[in-house]
Amino acid sequence: MEEFIERILITEEDIQKRVRELGSAITRDYQGTELRVVGVLRGAFIFMADLVRNIRVPLSVDFMSISSYGDECETSGIVRILKDLDKPITGRHVLIVEDIVDTGLTLRHLKEVLSTRGPASLRICALLSKPERRVVQDLRIDYLGFEIPNCFVVGYGLDYAERYRNYPFIFVLRPEYYSDAQREGKGQGG
Ligand code: 5GP
Repeated sequence: MEEFIERILITEEDIQKRVRELGSAITRDYQGTELRVVGVLRGAFIFMADLVRNIRVPLSVDFMSISSYGDECETSGIVRILKDLDKPITGRHVLIVEDIVDTGLTLRHLKEVLSTRGPASLRICALLSKPERRVVQDLRIDYLGFEIPNCFVVGYGLDYAERYRNYPFIFVLRPEYYSDAQREGKGQGG
């Protein structure tokens, strides 16, 4: 095992099995409609790529890139749109795909912004959720992969200082690798 891995929280096999189940549920629920799948960059890109390959209704994809104000670890809930959707969503069935719901502030804001654009429906699919950290109690996650405990995770699209997105499982970093990455600066990849 790589020396920076403290422990693997969710294996590649478990992720792939769950993604297939989510794809089936989404296929069932959106039968007879056309879907617009909106990925939140960059963390959701790998999850979304696997998810859409398990959905069997006509769909198109679009992406948003956002950054939250506040420091690195705590989101403030005020979301700045760095890259907006390329296409309008008015009258569309929209499914937001996010990597992880922590406090829920980011998704609450994103949902508010997108709902002003008049979609036919607006739902959320998230790979991970940390219920212990939730601030927004009434945020509904329509499709959820896994609930995890309150720890910082990377892999399968999720990063620390832009690293570790390329690993096919979800894991916890050894503490010394947080500081190493920090010393070398954030945002060298992306
Ligand atoms: P929220 O607004 O729900 O507090 O924050 C959600 C965002 O915080 C996620 O999209 C992700 O960018 C970041 N985040 C929260 N927890 C983790 C984590 O354990 N690992 C990583 N890599 N990012 C996280």
